Amino acid sequence: MGNVICWFRQDLRLADNPALEAAVESGHRVLPLFIFDDTLDEQIHPGAASQWWLHHSLEALSADLANRGNKLVLKRGSPLALLLELAAEHAVEAIYWNRRYEPQLTERDQRIKSALGEQGIECHSSKAHLLFEPWEIRNQKGKPYRVFSQYWRKGCLNSGIDIPQPREAPATIPAVSGAAGDRLEDWSLLPDNPNWATGFTPLWQPGEQGARARLEQFIDDGLRDYKELRNRPDLEHVSRLSPHFHWGEIAPWRAWHAVAAAGASRPGIAEKDVAHFHSEMGWREFSYHLLYHFPTLVTRNWKPMFDRFPWSDNAAQLRAWQQGQTGYPLVDAGMRELWATGWMHNRVRMVVASFLIKHLMIHWREGERWFWDTLVDADQANNSASWQWVAGSGADAAPYFRIFNPIMQGEKFDPEGEYIRRWVPELAQLDNKSLFRPWEADAGKLSAAGVKLGENYPEPIVDHFEARERALAAYKAAKAETEHAN
Ligand SMILES: Cc1cc2nc3c(=O)[nH]c(=O)nc-3n(C[C@H](O)[C@H](O)[C@H](O)COP(=O)(O)OP(=O)(O)OC[C@H]3O[C@@H](n4cnc5c(N)ncnc54)[C@H](O)[C@@H]3O)c2cc1C
Repeated sequence: MGNVICWFRQDLRLADNPALEAAVESGHRVLPLFIFDDTLDEQIHPGAASQWWLHHSLEALSADLANRGNKLVLKRGSPLALLLELAAEHAVEAIYWNRRYEPQLTERDQRIKSALGEQGIECHSSKAHLLFEPWEIRNQKGKPYRVFSQYWRKGCLNSGIDIPQPREAPATIPAVSGAAGDRLEDWSLLPDNPNWATGFTPLWQPGEQGARARLEQFIDDGLRDYKELRNRPDLEHVSRLSPHFHWGEIAPWRAWHAVAAAGASRPGIAEKDVAHFHSEMGWREFSYHLLYHFPTLVTRNWKPMFDRFPWSDNAAQLRAWQQGQTGYPLVDAGMRELWATGWMHNRVRMVVASFLIKHLMIHWREGERWFWDTLVDADQANNSASWQWVAGSGADAAPYFRIFNPIMQGEKFDPEGEYIRRWVPELAQLDNKSLFRPWEADAGKLSAAGVKLGENYPEPIVDHFEARERALAAYKAAKAETEHAN
């Protein structure tokens, strides 16, 4: 019996883990390894909220491996150097991992594969993160898709590719003796002073068990009426599985089949709810498809017209947006939810992103960077594709001229104002008529509700209608300039 390494990356689970299964099936002893890759640049290096999640997820994975008589080895530094070192130290014959699709990571993995190959060490990679790998889905001309509905219906759902069935973790994972690594505490992944993550703890349970519990809870309480109610930030009708998917604590196919089975067996869960949840998972697949085939998605406008856009560099407005102090209650509620919990409801993400890009005319990359640092589900593919979608600069994007009205979005999707009252408590005493537009309330009403505009809650930092006109004019000018240049 020889030794092999199972290199965990963003697949922090024991069940449905094809790399781990293959390592165990090789018949060798398995050294489970996680490397905190210090060589990655800021575009892909985990942000602060992601590091919080990673710390707890690694704790959970360590405990799960210990329960199976094995031990997770932690290393920090350059993966290639560390893999070569460990391979030499433990006479490792092969390394198993699950594939990543981000440009920096595919390039890194390719380099590692050839360097290890030269040393006679086999590398085996598997699919674990997606239902459909980016190269598996092509249009009739053999090209990548650019439009979601075609990608999903024609490409994925008609591909004939089977969605794998869930499989439990290997019963035993024979250990390599004497493998030692770092102490997780020494990596300082958690915030120290100030500890801005106190609000994360009651909400999240990172790790495989937490992911399964979250899925079950969603199926019990949230899946019914998902299609209609998933847009309501005041209700609990979305799964909040995104950070678990990002870190690979649950396989997408496990969630897929569990939701389908609930639809088939539980009264009240309609086919449309199941199909809609599946199609939202499809958007995740589509983001990966786009990022893999168009790797500049993270840094460059997909539509070059937006290179001509007169972006603003107003630092004070950017800070007001980040801190939830724009004077627009729904925007501020979302930004504060993000800061307090590391997550924000999708509808509100769209509104705050649109506000930054269109009302403030600040480049979507500023928003993408802030989300990258503050979201526990920060995901290069989903984040950059979504920001470009809202900006109108992306593939199959919302047109730029469709500008969300942050007041009406609140009235429509938070009709009783519960979401706003939860996150913007200084407005909680206002009635529903004024809650979404406090600047229109008369002085007596504001005073009775304890609101002092400009003192305990800001005046709007821009006027909605003026900002809208300014954005549309800028869009028109950039479009005309582009047409002229072509
Ligand atoms: C500006 C902006 C930035 C975003 N950044 C991220 C990000 O960094 N990471 C991230 O995972 N999602 C991102 N999203 C997409 C979406 O908001 C989240 O995936 C979703 O809110 C997660 O909540 P949930 O798990 O409850 O979703 P559910 O409604 O329960 O959906 C189930 C799963 O489908 C996937 N999904 C749902 N909506 C989308 C979508 N629009 N695009 C891609 N995948 C989707 C997610 O994996 C999600 O967990 C962003 C959206 C916007 C508008």
